[in-house]
Amino acid sequence: MGNHRADRRGPQRAAVDPTPAQTTRAARPAGGKRKATRHRAPAAARVLPSAPTVVGAVAILAAAGSAVAFGQGQLPGSNGIALSAGKADALNGTDAFGYGASEARADAISRDTDRQAAQDLAQKQFQQEVNEQSQARTGAILKLASSAQQRADQIAKNLWVLPTVGYHLTARFGQSSGLWSHLHTGLDFAAPSGNPIYAVANGVITDAGYDGAYGNKTVETLPDGTEIWYCHQSSIGVNIGDKVIQSEEIGTVGSTGNTTGPHVHIEVHPGGGDPVDPYPEFIMHGVTP
Ligand SMILES: [Zn+2]
Repeated sequence: MGNHRADRRGPQRAAVDPTPAQTTRAARPAGGKRKATRHRAPAAARVLPSAPTVVGAVAILAAAGSAVAFGQGQLPGSNGIALSAGKADALNGTDAFGYGASEARADAISRDTDRQAAQDLAQKQFQQEVNEQSQARTGAILKLASSAQQRADQIAKNLWVLPTVGYHLTARFGQSSGLWSHLHTGLDFAAPSGNPIYAVANGVITDAGYDGAYGNKTVETLPDGTEIWYCHQSSIGVNIGDKVIQSEEIGTVGSTGNTTGPHVHIEVHPGGGDPVDPYPEFIMHGVTP
């Protein structure tokens, strides 16, 4: 391969040799003394290469960078091949001088610009998608947080449950009756004897036992200090100090104490003080008796 290329260079170099012929033609009209000497160039030399051939050869030689070697009159031997091998790419590649290289370069720059624009657009679209996904995720998190907040609010509201099932209300808070020495201090849930009694909320049992007119009575103290009294029970299922959870069965409906029939008499004592009307208390804690 190297040899083949080297062989081609021989004739090209020969074609370059007669270049003085060109200056001869240009100088002739002036007729100057120095230039006259150049008129002596052999007539045969003027016949020689056409301009494109010369230009092409010069360009190739310059590109090859091997003009020095050739200028010293060396024919390309094995050393010459070795010398020019490193420059071979200059001959074959698109970086050769001339031959519309600047146009090609302009095209390449234009393509690069287009590619850069496409990359910028893709980057922008990608960034937009990331932003949209991020916003969607933020929205979902906010919704979740809102849901968690609602749950927290619900817990903070300290919702209650009803103390028994299958009941009907027979006596309201503040009613008077011959049964009581004073106004009714609670709310009566009439239900079959033996019906379960449930803790209305989480709390601690602070009293449990028989208490005169109240019969079998259990007192549960809620975390906020409110006491719930469960009265007239046929049985007590818990002991003082027990922690109970909402809806846990703590006893059964009965008619112990001063009653005319089985029911659970509920009293509500905020902060352990005087009783208040249980009905609005249940409403306030999310249930309607
Ligand atoms: Zn009662």
